[in-house]
Amino acid sequence: MTTENTKPVLVRMPPSPTGGLHLGTARTALFNWLFAKKNGGEIIFRWEDTDLERSKKEYETQILEGLKWLGMDFEKEAKAFYRQTECAETHQKYLAKLWEEGKVFPCFTTQEELQEIRDQAAKSRENFVFWSPFRDLPREEAEKKMQNGEKFVWRLKVEKNRWITFKDLIRKKVAVNTDTLGDFAIARSDNSVLYYLANVIDDWTQGVTHVIRGEDHISNTPKQILLYEALGAEMPKFGHIPLVLDKNKKKLSKRNVDPEICVLISDFQKQGFIPEGVVNGLVFLGWHPKTTEEIFSLADLEKIFDLKNVNAGAAQYDFEKMKWFNAHWMRKVEIERLQQYFAGFSGKTIDLKFLELAREKAKNLAELDNELEYLVSDPGFDENLFVHEKMGLDIEHGKKTCQIIHDLLADLDESEFSREKLREICVAKIAELGWKNGPFMWPFRVALSNRSGSAGPFEIAEVIGKDETLKRLERASS
Ligand code: GLU
Repeated sequence: MTTENTKPVLVRMPPSPTGGLHLGTARTALFNWLFAKKNGGEIIFRWEDTDLERSKKEYETQILEGLKWLGMDFEKEAKAFYRQTECAETHQKYLAKLWEEGKVFPCFTTQEELQEIRDQAAKSRENFVFWSPFRDLPREEAEKKMQNGEKFVWRLKVEKNRWITFKDLIRKKVAVNTDTLGDFAIARSDNSVLYYLANVIDDWTQGVTHVIRGEDHISNTPKQILLYEALGAEMPKFGHIPLVLDKNKKKLSKRNVDPEICVLISDFQKQGFIPEGVVNGLVFLGWHPKTTEEIFSLADLEKIFDLKNVNAGAAQYDFEKMKWFNAHWMRKVEIERLQQYFAGFSGKTIDLKFLELAREKAKNLAELDNELEYLVSDPGFDENLFVHEKMGLDIEHGKKTCQIIHDLLADLDESEFSREKLREICVAKIAELGWKNGPFMWPFRVALSNRSGSAGPFEIAEVIGKDETLKRLERASS
């Protein structure tokens, strides 16, 4: 007990590789990661791969790569990185010990009998709770049945009508009566241990101090507390982070939402999100800094994250807000990083000067790709773009204006071709002509971008350079 406060923090991330990287799992990883970093602790990573049928190598890759993309390289940073299937011997050793001590028993109730009890409970609208008729079977009789090859599962012999309470790090006190649990299964007849027990043995033998996981696991905790007790193991602290709900207040699932809405980390990658944007959005699914500040990098969060600021109430997923965070980070992230992200997304390595300009208008990498189009290559020109009804501009006016601008810029030295200098010269010309800005700037801009919406003409001219600017103006004027 006395060592409890002095023991260094050790958390764990134990995903089951039975699907892609869901944002809920990514958020659990993030909260564990941040908690460990903030408290000078460490983290272990464990593949809970005991469900051999559903566990797949490709999901392992997706999960690990997705977490790495977000900035959490578990393979490199975890104190231990291993598979639950490698621990089978340890699991069996403790199962045997529990049997030796009479804390677990083989239960011979068949699947059909169990189903009947389950149906009966459903009919009378009661929760299914199973107390095994074999819990007090004398050991010799049980052994005889096992030797005779009767089918069974291992169950924990649960004490009846006892309150299990624990102080959750997020939702304070939780109390559950064992009468709602029954004698639950912990291992198969081949001694392969099921989730509840495997998870407890692994966390305990690794010395995990804090179990931080999704609220969907809160009903497992009282059962696992009973297992810690049965093993005589030191209990970790538990913290259950709130569920993520969709806008219909249902648990967020890929199946229930609009396909445009990202749920898997790979969805975000496909849509051109950048890691900083996704991390910033993820942390706000349940955590709040209790200030008005909203923009945080992973490095910032590693310094300030506190479980005290995680809400107990469910988090509402707002995809628009995720986009908002991403748009912010598109402008804020280091330009070299953006270059890398864009190369990963599109396979194209783009000169920084183009990226600097294009990112001002792009909320994600797909928009960046679109915005770069007229900068990195000649977009051609459609003279109908000259027409602007509100300003009363037609094609003739456009051509004439482009000629004026072409002549104005033709003698400029390449070294003077900056947005500031171009603005200065053009402003003087507009004054000389006695025009308003619009009739001058509109043809200039569309001639350079071939779009009705784009970056400004001075900025485009600066990054595409003098020759390309003059070439586009000349084409538009003829
Ligand atoms: N393998 C479990 C899961 O992926 C881990 C649950 C836990 O954190 O205890 O849901």
